[in-house]
Amino acid sequence: MVTATQSLNDDMIELFAAELGAEVRITEPGAEQEEELLRALEVDLAEGGQHIRPPVVTVMGHVDHGKTLLLDRIRSANVVEGEAGGITQHIGAYQTMRGGHPITFIDTPGHEAFTAMRARGAQATDVVVLVVAADDGVMPQTVEAIDHARAADVPIIVAINKMDRPGADPDRVRAQLSERGLVPETYGGEVITVPMSAMTGDGIDELLDQILLVAELEELTADPTGRAVGIVLEAHLDRGRGPVATVVVQRGTLSVGEPMVAGAAWGRVRAMTDDRGNPLTEAGPSAPVQVLGLGEVARAGDMFVVAPDEKTAGKVAETREHWQRQASLAGTAGGSGGGAKLEDIFKQVQAGETATLNLVLKADVHGSLEAVTDSLRKLERDDVKLTFVSRGVGGINENDVQLAAASEATIIGFNVRPDRNARQAAEAENVEVRLYEIIYDLISDVQNAMVGLLEPEFEEIVVGEAQVRQVFRISGVGPVAGCVVEHGNVRSGAKVRFLRDGTIIWKGSISSLRHFQDDVAEVSAGMECGIGLSDFSDLKEGDVIETYTEREIARVA
Ligand code: GDP
Repeated sequence: MVTATQSLNDDMIELFAAELGAEVRITEPGAEQEEELLRALEVDLAEGGQHIRPPVVTVMGHVDHGKTLLLDRIRSANVVEGEAGGITQHIGAYQTMRGGHPITFIDTPGHEAFTAMRARGAQATDVVVLVVAADDGVMPQTVEAIDHARAADVPIIVAINKMDRPGADPDRVRAQLSERGLVPETYGGEVITVPMSAMTGDGIDELLDQILLVAELEELTADPTGRAVGIVLEAHLDRGRGPVATVVVQRGTLSVGEPMVAGAAWGRVRAMTDDRGNPLTEAGPSAPVQVLGLGEVARAGDMFVVAPDEKTAGKVAETREHWQRQASLAGTAGGSGGGAKLEDIFKQVQAGETATLNLVLKADVHGSLEAVTDSLRKLERDDVKLTFVSRGVGGINENDVQLAAASEATIIGFNVRPDRNARQAAEAENVEVRLYEIIYDLISDVQNAMVGLLEPEFEEIVVGEAQVRQVFRISGVGPVAGCVVEHGNVRSGAKVRFLRDGTIIWKGSISSLRHFQDDVAEVSAGMECGIGLSDFSDLKEGDVIETYTEREIARVA
């Protein structure tokens, strides 16, 4: 017996239906609306008009070959000839004009964004501009960019940059490109190469002309009528304005007031601005615009769609969120899968397999984050690739661990520590967290894993954690931290480090330990104690004192 307000599970419903001779179709709430939404769009697509649309361009290439400068040059050249007083804003993409034809540039150089979008099934790019420095030639990330563009089947134009440099040798670059299967026109192939200098500006106009030429050959068209569809390029939460998303419209026209769904976020378009901050009421194909009005922060690479009404938009978003949550639960529930271990990479490399090391990188400050990133990037080789699943400043938190678990990544912390939740999650999810305070150690560990040569290593075991409640200054003794031991125990003489918001601020050892008036050897969880430190006085309330020991781990190769 069930009452009218009780739910039936799927099996019961099937049984009940069989009894009545009825047929049951079980769908997720919102799934039908989603199908309907997509069906309607399919129809629109089939009717796609022959309207030329501007090309959307991504600039890729090896680090330091001039991608950023090129993007800046094109952008600022346009401001000079553009409308009065236009201050360009970094919204993730911008549009420039060449001979009356607009070209859209995605404003994040590098292949990461490109790959991330593809991973979500979104293809935002029509043309890839591959920047190769004339004085440096084809480098590892050049090759990778070629691979990505090829995999996505996007035409490549090569910008041979830094032609102003004394060592510039465009022919060497062309020869190297030919070796990679990108045969330049001058060598009888089809690949357009444009010698240029982002520094002097020479050749940039020629590059833009070639982009337009390729776009013409590609016959890029889109129907500017009907409900808009496109891709989220960037999204963030703005303090004053709420969730902000930069989208590029792929077809149809997006108008203020329309209900839209972007991934699992939805809302009515409240306002739109272009890359100069001008308000817009409409945006057509290939236009990059910043959109206000979504209820949540969408994810880069999410498709967006205009829905027929708010109710459908809400239902679809709700269903997607439900699915996303299910997927992430399914992805992390097992725990045994976990992230990729440096050791695993080491084994794969030893076995002669191609391996990819996915990393979640956290560091104490922006400068060190960049420095570590650059050094790690330099380690990449043909048989071992590195991918940064995420990079950020600050302590390692539970989110980082979930992300690492979902993407089979190793977490690397530089001068930062995981908080307790993160540590527990890492254990539960079997995610490897490696912590370093010396960049050389970090690089050499990763490098050793990549060449299949991991040294035996020391593992730090956290023994206890105490929180600073009050700091006393006692003459002749120095500062003493009045603490409560929150976990484990604190021993006199133990190695400690101080953490403030997950960042290491000091390392050393405990010089004296007291419980009330007595010197003691050990204080355990739940008890108060006074911790004296030899040579550190910059303690604050709320700091965490972590004590640890080191143990050598035998490596199984
Ligand atoms: P990215 O890492 O590819 O984005 O490279 P950047 O745009 O940051 O450029 C790296 C360095 O090369 C910067 O110091 C630029 O000023 C310089 N650079 C870029 N293009 C040129 C160029 O055409 N000529 C010269 N001489 N330097 C350039």
